[in-house]
Amino acid sequence: MSATRTAQLMEGTNLAERVIEEAAAKAAEISRRSGTSPCLATVLVGEDPASVTYVRMKRARCAKAGIRSRHVALPVSTTTAELIVTLAGLSGDPDVHGILLQHPCGPHIDERAAFEAIAPEKDVDGVTMRSFAAMAFALPGFVSCTPGGIMRLLEEYDVDLAGKHAVVVGRSAILGKPAGMLLLAKDATVTYCHSRTADLSAIVGEADVVVAAVGQPRMIRGEDIKPGAVVIDAGYNPGNVGDVDFGTARTRARLITPVPGGVGPMTIAVLLAQTVDAAANQLGIRQF
Ligand code: NDP
Repeated sequence: MSATRTAQLMEGTNLAERVIEEAAAKAAEISRRSGTSPCLATVLVGEDPASVTYVRMKRARCAKAGIRSRHVALPVSTTTAELIVTLAGLSGDPDVHGILLQHPCGPHIDERAAFEAIAPEKDVDGVTMRSFAAMAFALPGFVSCTPGGIMRLLEEYDVDLAGKHAVVVGRSAILGKPAGMLLLAKDATVTYCHSRTADLSAIVGEADVVVAAVGQPRMIRGEDIKPGAVVIDAGYNPGNVGDVDFGTARTRARLITPVPGGVGPMTIAVLLAQTVDAAANQLGIRQF
């Protein structure tokens, strides 16, 4: 007779609070030493309700942590060229230490061109090609926030990645791809899956670590999870549902992130931590 396993939850909410407290302490120290508090510029094109909410949440967390934010709201009619001018202006403004371009920006915007207008030293959301290259080369730099949050969760729960088979489902430039790069830098053997992958179930079934980053409710079947695997669900779908069938997956996994309360809160925490680090670098503060 085999007992039913119940995975330990990888709680992001409390860990995110701790990361933000550390960022707040650093922000206070930066203000004390330089007379300037860290400042994040948030840029939003249009009024998509979800994007408006995300930006509001990020700015509220900044305020609580002693990080200033400067919001730039652009009309939906903004062109790529106009957006680039705005981002280049913020990149050259010494009073702005980090820049967040909330995306998606809309189909008429060349998002890649816009991201590349963000100065690398202010790319606290980890979206530029320079930041991606740093992740790919395992060099210091800003990480994409959600993958960075995932790595911090894995570290917190002492998941040893060396030699483990990590399967990343999803290959977007801000989530799946950089998550795989960061796992590779920790010596995991990484497989990427995407919409054209044949026999996803079989590949997921071989994973010691699964990272779900698709955006389709419960598309990773619980019965496909290898017993004892670590399951990271970055998906966030309407109704607070992740990309993994949590109910069944938790009876097979060793560790699993809840949705909500797993990866989500970590994303903002990494954004704040990187904004403070960017400010420290730009203000010449090296030691805390
Ligand atoms: P994208 O839509 O940019 O990418 C989705 C990826 O999933 C693509 O690579 C796509 O493949 C792949 N995919 C689609 N269908 C399948 C399928 N049937 N089988 C395997 N792979 C598939 O999404 P994002 O990366 O931006 O976001 C993914 C999820 O993460 C969403 O739920 C989003 O809400 C969530 N998210 C959560 C964040 C957080 O803070 N927690 C932050 C950002 C995102 P292909 O490349 O072939 O099209």
